[in-house]
Amino acid sequence: MSRCRLCDAALHPVVDFGPMPIANGFLTPERFAHEKRFPLEVAMCPACAMVQLVDVVDEAAMFNADYAFFSSTSAGMARHFGRFAADVKRRLPDDPFVVELGCNDGIMLRHFADGRHLGVEPSANVADAARKLGLDVDTRFFTAALADELRQTRGPADAILGANVVCHIPYLDAVFDGVRRLLGPKGVFAFEDPYIGDILALTSYDQIYDEHVYYFSLTAVAKLAARHGLEVIDAERQPVHGGEVRFTLAHRGARPIHARVGELAAEEAARGLGQPATFDAFAAAVAASKDALVKAVRGVDGPLVGYGATSKSTTVLNYCGLGPDDLAYISDVTPTKIGRYAPGSHIPIRAYADFCADPPQHALLFAWNHAAEIVAKEADWRAAGGRFLTYVPRVEWR
Ligand SMILES: [Zn+2]
Repeated sequence: MSRCRLCDAALHPVVDFGPMPIANGFLTPERFAHEKRFPLEVAMCPACAMVQLVDVVDEAAMFNADYAFFSSTSAGMARHFGRFAADVKRRLPDDPFVVELGCNDGIMLRHFADGRHLGVEPSANVADAARKLGLDVDTRFFTAALADELRQTRGPADAILGANVVCHIPYLDAVFDGVRRLLGPKGVFAFEDPYIGDILALTSYDQIYDEHVYYFSLTAVAKLAARHGLEVIDAERQPVHGGEVRFTLAHRGARPIHARVGELAAEEAARGLGQPATFDAFAAAVAASKDALVKAVRGVDGPLVGYGATSKSTTVLNYCGLGPDDLAYISDVTPTKIGRYAPGSHIPIRAYADFCADPPQHALLFAWNHAAEIVAKEADWRAAGGRFLTYVPRVEWR
């Protein structure tokens, strides 16, 4: 029986996806023979409600100098982080000290570049990109020891931020301990990550992959915060990455609590987000989604291609057992992925220009979180008979 990484209670198994390659490990044919697989099983803790991976892949295997994801490649996300920064600034005093965990290439931290700031970013090549914007970056991992050092050398933080990074960190207790140590008396800790409430509502099981160690609910985050003398003062849903929540925490009693916190807590209680039975129902929905997708893919008359070589697609392709016989290729615009092959399934990744030059009639939409803009962008293709197969929130053609 596996145990909760945070409270040591026995975990309730949810879905075992089987052995998986590294989600973002797009590779060349010379590496096929060396490709490793790791168990991917998600479970929930009946005691503290935290949904989590049972096994964690070694950080060194996932985040290294080759890490291909640069946040600033998306204009929509750049706008989103501008709003996140503005939202944080409302709560800050004059001359604030702002720390961002996993600042990536500086897409959000650049909004604080004029003042006292520090990015903590262990991924060396994206940290260099942030430094080129004139940002101050530390490439060590965030721990209690580093938090103490920063408080001593730079003073207490008025804000500690994290966007799509906190859920990646297995040693979450150490992070919260570090936050408590570094945060000033009125400081805020604001982070946003995929929301388990949306994953359940949409059956978007492809959000579950090696980099996402935790899947947050307010119920679970509130319990974790309480164990570190912190409390949730705001919890705001965000329509990005398929549905996230931005949690804002402060030292207990330091700040007023927004009404949204009580509202979301009541909603989660009504939905049973802390209850094992809720996750048994999710597991059944995931299995049904897989069966429906495999049936739809194998029922396609003519060539089918993938649209968007996302990290999420790795879970879908490998869990559903889809390969080059099912999808001719996956179209993508990321230069570091084009010419490589999808992890595990070894489906070739080809340039979006190839999709445009010889449009297939059917495309499996992996970037479903951008479905509205993609469907609009491909209006001509759809007018000529092109159809997208999607699987979130349900398997259907559109
Ligand atoms: Zn637990």
